[in-house]
Amino acid sequence: MPDDLATTTGLDAAALAHIREALAARPRGLFSDVDGTLSPIAPTPESAALLPGVADLLDRAQQCFDVVAAVSGRSAHDARRMVGLDTITYIGNHGFEWLEPRAHVATPISEAAEAHILPEALPYQPAVEAVLTRLGAELAPRFPGLRIEPKGVTASVHVRNTPDPAAAEDAAYRLASELAAPHGLRVTRGKLVVELRPPVAVDKGAAVARVIRERGLRAALYLGDDRTDVDAFRALRRLTNEGACRGVAVAILHNEAPADLAAEADVTLDSIQRVPALLRWLLTAI
Ligand SMILES: [Mg+2]
Repeated sequence: MPDDLATTTGLDAAALAHIREALAARPRGLFSDVDGTLSPIAPTPESAALLPGVADLLDRAQQCFDVVAAVSGRSAHDARRMVGLDTITYIGNHGFEWLEPRAHVATPISEAAEAHILPEALPYQPAVEAVLTRLGAELAPRFPGLRIEPKGVTASVHVRNTPDPAAAEDAAYRLASELAAPHGLRVTRGKLVVELRPPVAVDKGAAVARVIRERGLRAALYLGDDRTDVDAFRALRRLTNEGACRGVAVAILHNEAPADLAAEADVTLDSIQRVPALLRWLLTAI
């Protein structure tokens, strides 16, 4: 029953009507962050797994959305391995790389050749690797459990499993900023993670806006739970105000969600457990 589906989203009638109305135009896109949005936050990135049924719902969503894309801080390949669908788009590394839906070709393409890397970012890869090596050498002995993750043109330092994550994050952020400055690299903070990036103006918002522009989308819904998703929320708002594309920003709240997330969103889900319910409702309601 559609009414039961609506109830399970936890959203009121006005919010659901707003989503339905905003997504009336075609072509339209469904964009979703992965960690904390489609998969509960896990102790390590490797142990994270999608909520039951979500991959199937994303697959089915291709019947009513012209573009379905997962948008992640993970590498695009890692995001695809995690979601497990070949047919959708993966925007990885916060927009520095992406994978198109895999064409049904007989000859397998090598993974490395398959990812599209933002050309402006490529020259910074050696500097990212050099700074990451120094960070690992200096921080790992001081903070047991600290994990260094090279991701090509970007890199992450995870502090979740250190004894004092706040202290480790502060130390990682300070040292990363100091080491990155001579190379002109940017240092950002996420959820118990410090990240190194090329000084190229790309984020989840710019990446989503590019897909919207290239595919001529007239409507788009974005699901996200973290600071980096706010960039996508803002991009959707800008496109909506320009009349280019109606956007709906959906915030997923949990106890690690940043304070400004809900304020920047059009709709707020009170738990990640509501995400499958919203996807299920979208399949019947739009
Ligand atoms: Mg997230």
